[in-house]
Amino acid sequence: MPDIETVCVQCKSTFPFSEKDQEFFYQRNMMAPQRCEQCRPRRAAKKVEDGTRFEIVCDHCGKHDRVPFQPKVGRPVLCRECHEANRSRARFA
Ligand SMILES: [Zn+2]
Ligand SMILES: [Zn+2]
Repeated sequence: MPDIETVCVQCKSTFPFSEKDQEFFYQRNMMAPQRCEQCRPRRAAKKVEDGTRFEIVCDHCGKHDRVPFQPKVGRPVLCRECHEANRSRARFA
């Protein structure tokens, strides 16, 4: 397989998708990279900065909220307010 010239979706510059990289990606069933090496680490760093947030809909009041953890499928998920209220209720019950 020859090297493939790929256009970075972020900075629009071309970068080589080398034969070695192609093998690496195809072996793992991964999609070809969309960004050049300069854009890739910056994107990863930003993600850590922002923290990962999962959009949830509160099971109790229906409010949309973001939580720093992945909600478990099939389990009720509460917004921060309801979660706090739930916790203090449990404490005083
Ligand atoms: Zn780029
Ligand atoms: Zn709620």
